[in-house]
Amino acid sequence: MINKTFSEELETLRKSNLLRQIKDRQASFASCASRVLISGTEYINFASNDYLGLSTNPSVIEAAKKAMDKYGFGSGSSRLLSGGTELNAKLEKIISEFKNTEAALVFNSGYTANISAIPAIAMQGDVIFSDELNHASIIDGCRLSKAKKVVYKHCDANHLFELLKKEDRNKKIVITDSVFSMDGDISPLKDIYELCSSLNSELQPPNSIFLYVDDAHGTGVLGNGYGALQHFKIKPEPWIIQMGTFSKALGSYGAFIAAGRNIIDWLINTARGLIYSTALPPCVIAASIEALQILQDKPELVKKLWQNRERLFNGIMDLGFDIMHSETPIIPIAVSDANASLKFSELLMSYKIYAPAIRPPTVKTPRIRFTVTASHTKEDIDKLLDAIAEARQDN
Ligand SMILES: *Cc1c(COP(=O)(O)O)cnc(C)c1O
Repeated sequence: MINKTFSEELETLRKSNLLRQIKDRQASFASCASRVLISGTEYINFASNDYLGLSTNPSVIEAAKKAMDKYGFGSGSSRLLSGGTELNAKLEKIISEFKNTEAALVFNSGYTANISAIPAIAMQGDVIFSDELNHASIIDGCRLSKAKKVVYKHCDANHLFELLKKEDRNKKIVITDSVFSMDGDISPLKDIYELCSSLNSELQPPNSIFLYVDDAHGTGVLGNGYGALQHFKIKPEPWIIQMGTFSKALGSYGAFIAAGRNIIDWLINTARGLIYSTALPPCVIAASIEALQILQDKPELVKKLWQNRERLFNGIMDLGFDIMHSETPIIPIAVSDANASLKFSELLMSYKIYAPAIRPPTVKTPRIRFTVTASHTKEDIDKLLDAIAEARQDN
């Protein structure tokens, strides 16, 4: 009987073409981040956020191995007990220099950073302003916060301004993705920055406005890899909190918050995902340190990423597809319904191309989402374009 508990719900999902299934890969290929082996077949992977191919970079792997030999594997406890190593402090120093902030703090993942830092910063009596297409981890962080929540229209700084003027609370925290992970568009951060900056100049603490930027897809991608603030030439003000991840373009795992010293100290004392969760394995921290070094030493990687992005973007545009508002290496193609998105994805698989159907509730409009990376070759991209052209003829 117990087995029946979820069967109807699952059946409903299946009938609506919304059932999700995990496709694990059997292998990655060392030094070839763009290929995956699934059920015995090799595919060109257009479904990875490993934008610079660093997950298979030999020196990243070597750094992790060395750290494993020196510190063991698991960290053993929370950072506040004995889970941290000198590598944590080293990585945080590198991040604060990289981001030009007073301090930084490592979190176990981007998801953990958002669900921990947002409720720690936005407290009872405060109000959060959140873009309607913000990432699920931001939405969950807002749910855990005791602050009032106000949602503004996607990328609409004017709407945000109207809403900001209406609220009269202690702290106002504007939260946005820099790059929206499902549409690949970029938040109008310069407008939002200027808005917050001018309002802040009229306010007295504690009535200040904070800007919390989730730079998960901007880190290693925008601003020559330095992130969204650099892209928009925005100064890292004391009221700006930058969250970024090591899990995407840096090919490692984990996340960081870069901000002023007081904010970081406050997080060390109140962010529950930091206090009540075991610290990352030291080898993961070592890999992140090495990946950041490579990012800074090899600007050609980010250049290659954007060249590849232009090639794919122009190719898809020439084929006349609706790519929504993509401005980044994330390029979605909108399709009519969930079933069509599944069929499209299956057809691509027959061409040895792996790109997933993204369906509700993740997004409102079903789509195929391509992520192009620096490790794709021109031939890979042209193969994808040929397959997309074929898919159109089939539909
Ligand atoms: C991927 C992502 C996260 C979560 O990061 P993880 O390190 O994968 O947990 C948070 N925010 C955004 C915008 C993301 O795209």
